[in-house]
Amino acid sequence: MKVIDFHCDTMLKIFESNQEAGLKENEFQVDIGKLQQGQVLAQFFALFFELDLVQEKKKSPFEHTLEMLECFEEELTRNSKDIALAKGFEDLVKNEKAKKISAFLTIEEGEALEGSMDNLSYFHQKGVRLITLTWNHENQIGFPNTRYKSQDRGLKPFGKEVIEGMNHLGMLIDVSHLSDGGFWDVVKLSKEPFIASHSNARSVKPHPRNLSDEMLKAIGNGGGVTGLNFAHYFLSSDGRSKIEPMITHMRHIINVAGSEALVFGTDFDGISGELEIENIGEMQQLIGAMEKGGFSTREIEQITHKNGLRIIREVLG
Ligand SMILES: [Zn+2]
Repeated sequence: MKVIDFHCDTMLKIFESNQEAGLKENEFQVDIGKLQQGQVLAQFFALFFELDLVQEKKKSPFEHTLEMLECFEEELTRNSKDIALAKGFEDLVKNEKAKKISAFLTIEEGEALEGSMDNLSYFHQKGVRLITLTWNHENQIGFPNTRYKSQDRGLKPFGKEVIEGMNHLGMLIDVSHLSDGGFWDVVKLSKEPFIASHSNARSVKPHPRNLSDEMLKAIGNGGGVTGLNFAHYFLSSDGRSKIEPMITHMRHIINVAGSEALVFGTDFDGISGELEIENIGEMQQLIGAMEKGGFSTREIEQITHKNGLRIIREVLG
């Protein structure tokens, strides 16, 4: 079964290894061999950074993101036989025909824009097609959802401009990590379906990073999707990342938001600890468990790739 994964942090690991590790084969949770083994059609690669660490080093978030972007481009060039950038649906189809994995480029931390709409256009031109508006820090776009205290705060004026700009450019707005107030502003302002690339159900595992049933419904009603996150914090209180709670979250999300509203957002290389699905190469084991868990073939096709293909086509073109 084909798979699309909307979130991994592998590029940060490669970037931080100073060229020691590469995309072809590495000890991380995502590399080309594992992507092939997992039958992955498209992998979204986040340019992720911790804003406080970058600011401590007095580095510009924009420049830092560009450095990571260059590292990503080098990896694609080095592995052009097996993987290629995709900016939209047609690229994905073309890559699939050429037996190549599609790599979508994303930014996780909207402060990469440094409050400039020109920087948004620049990143779009470089191939970025999804932006996770915040990580766990306040930025010029809005507030994070890691701390309940900022949970009600909405988007800032620049954040509202970014929504309009991303709609205009044809980019996926990602609300994972965003405050609940910011989420509801996106619901109000976005003219296109949006994504929570790596968030689970709050009523299954209470955690501010997960989405309430009302939020899940709003995503489903708007034609958006949420990506199942494999981090144990967002799955259960067990301290391990197990298949069983993944099934419970998936069933719940489908019941509340509809079977069109769920995709995968594994968070691989952003997660650690004991993992039942240890890396992207083991995705077919999860799909086997979904079959046993009572998901219909239609639902499995939707979750694994068809919902992803639809939103890519609708929003990115
Ligand atoms: Zn994240």
